[in-house]
Amino acid sequence: MPGRRYNAAVLSFHIENGKLKATSRPVPKLRPGWALVRVRLVGICNTDVELLHGYYNFRGVPGHEFVGTVEQLRRASAAEKNKWLGRRVCGEINISCGALGRRPVCDFCRRGLKTHCARRTVLGIIGHPGAYAEYLTVPLENLHIVPESVSDELAVFVEPLAAACEILEQVDVRKFREAAVLGDGKLAQLIARVLCTAVPRAVMYGKHEKKLALARRAGIATKKVGGDGSDLGRVREKFRLVIEATGSPTGLALAQQMTEPRGTLVLKSTFHGAAPVETWPIVVKEITVVGSRCGPFANAIHLLRAGKINPQPLITRVFPLEKAPEAITYAQRAGVMKVLLNPQEV
Ligand SMILES: [Zn+2]
Ligand SMILES: [Zn+2]
Repeated sequence: MPGRRYNAAVLSFHIENGKLKATSRPVPKLRPGWALVRVRLVGICNTDVELLHGYYNFRGVPGHEFVGTVEQLRRASAAEKNKWLGRRVCGEINISCGALGRRPVCDFCRRGLKTHCARRTVLGIIGHPGAYAEYLTVPLENLHIVPESVSDELAVFVEPLAAACEILEQVDVRKFREAAVLGDGKLAQLIARVLCTAVPRAVMYGKHEKKLALARRAGIATKKVGGDGSDLGRVREKFRLVIEATGSPTGLALAQQMTEPRGTLVLKSTFHGAAPVETWPIVVKEITVVGSRCGPFANAIHLLRAGKINPQPLITRVFPLEKAPEAITYAQRAGVMKVLLNPQEV
C-alpha cells in the first residue's frame, strides 16, 4: 500500500525453549507468486501448544489459523493485483513444492494432492513462519477470499472448520442416520456442527459439562463420560459412524469399541505418542478406519457465509498479539475454548 513503510520492524513471536519470545524483524521478503498478509486475527490451536512443548522440534513462529489482509504481491499480473490487493483472506497451511519454486513438482502435487506434497512446508508447523505475527507470507495458490458478510471472528475458524469438512469428503455421511463424536474440545465442536448439517443426529461424548452445554446450544445431543479408561466398561452405545476427536490416546480405544461391525471410524486426533489400543476388534468387526486431516476451505467458507454454522460462541477470549505468552498459557486452562490473538489491538 502506498505510504506504508515496509522496512519498519514488525512484531512476531517465536518458540524458544518452551516459551513464546517476542522479536522485532523487518517485514518478511516475498517470493514470486506469494502475498504479504497483514494478520487481523489468529487462533491458538492445540497444535501450537504441542509445538511449544517441543513437538516437531519447531523453533519458528507458530500460528496456522488466521484471517488477514493482502498488502503486497510479488511478480503478480494486473488481474492478480486486482483480485487480491486489499482483500481479506484466509489461507491453506500446506505449502507445496511448486510454491517453493521446486521444478519438477513432486508426484503428489502432480496428482493434485498438495496437502500430501512430499516436500511441503506447513505454515506455523513445519519450516515456515506462521501467524503469531503482524505479517506473514503465503503463496497466492493457498489463499481464499473471505466474503464481506463473514466477520474476522468467523473467518479465523475457516482452517479448523475445513478440517472438520474433510470428513464429508472422505465418508458419504448421508448413508448414516446418526454419528458419535468423541471429544468436546474445539475441533470436536466444529466436527459435530459440520455433521449436523448432513446427518439427522450427532451425539457428542465429552467430559466437560460446560463444553457439552455449548454443543447442546448448537442442537447437538450430548453424553457425559469420564474421559478415561473407565468409559470402556461403562459406555454401551454403538454407532455405524464414529469420529474420534478427543485428542487423547484413551479416546481411540473407546471409539473402536463404540463402532459397530462394518462401521466407519474416522480418526481426527493428532495426539503424539503411542495409543494403547487393541487392533484385533477392528479386524473382527471389519471396521473401516479413516485418517483425516486438512480439508476444503471453500466448503468451510460456504458454511459460514450461509449461516449454517456459527462458531463464534466457541471464542473464550481475544488477547492483543503482545500478550501472546499470556494468551497461550490461558488457552491451556481447563474449560477454555478458542483463544484469539489480535495484532492490531493496542
Ligand atoms: Zn490447528
Ligand atoms: Zn509437492
